Amino acid sequence: MRLYLVILFFAMGGIISGQDDRFEAARNSMVRFQIMNRGVTDPAVLNAMRKVPRHLFVQKGSESEAYEDYPMPIGYGQTISQPFIVAYMTEVVKPSKRKRALEIGTGSGYQAAVLAQIVDTVYTIEIVPELAKESAERLKKLGYNNIIVKYGDGYQGWPDHAPFDIIVVTAAPDAIPGPLIDQLAENGRLVIPVGAPSAVQELILVEKKKGKIEKSRLSFVRFVPFKRL
Ligand code: SAH
Repeated sequence: MRLYLVILFFAMGGIISGQDDRFEAARNSMVRFQIMNRGVTDPAVLNAMRKVPRHLFVQKGSESEAYEDYPMPIGYGQTISQPFIVAYMTEVVKPSKRKRALEIGTGSGYQAAVLAQIVDTVYTIEIVPELAKESAERLKKLGYNNIIVKYGDGYQGWPDHAPFDIIVVTAAPDAIPGPLIDQLAENGRLVIPVGAPSAVQELILVEKKKGKIEKSRLSFVRFVPFKRL
């Protein structure tokens, strides 16, 4: 009996790690060809992208596409961002071990998971209640104990946990919400796509230095619209 259990244990381990290996190779080539080749160099970000099992954040049945070079639907008219965009935005906010991050637009929870590999805590807000619930469950199941998901309108930020060293917004408003700038810590970095819905938007970096706000325009991007409750 005990021998059977031991054999079963190893057989299952083999199946599980076999699956992981299949996706691990896909993840490594995603990082190499889509992310490093386009100029992302921060080792912590590259490691996080190699670790987070993106195939568990896409819809069932689409796992084999999870490491391709495009965004994918996650239901409710929303998308999980293209891997490169996730890596690029993560690098831009300069994540490190002691920092606390706020994300607006949890979606699948993937961007939150990538940040959570590196920083101390990720607070994340999602306006579609079903997505907030699904992602909270997914992240818990995957063991991300340093991510706190809340349902709501991210426009107001999360005053109870402010200020944040990092703010990442993954839906595009017409203008940068004032409360998010207020909740940015000294030397904090906020990255946000800004522009009209259904158009090309600009990715903007906001830095707070000695209380002053500096904005820089990074690139053109396309995100789902920032909604209001
Ligand atoms: N970061 C996500 C990307 C999701 S797409 C991921 O890694 O999968 C952007 C998400 O922002 C959508 O789920 C959308 O519902 C959400 N969203 C849009 N407006 C919002 C708002 N005002 N507050 C919180 N979430 C919002």
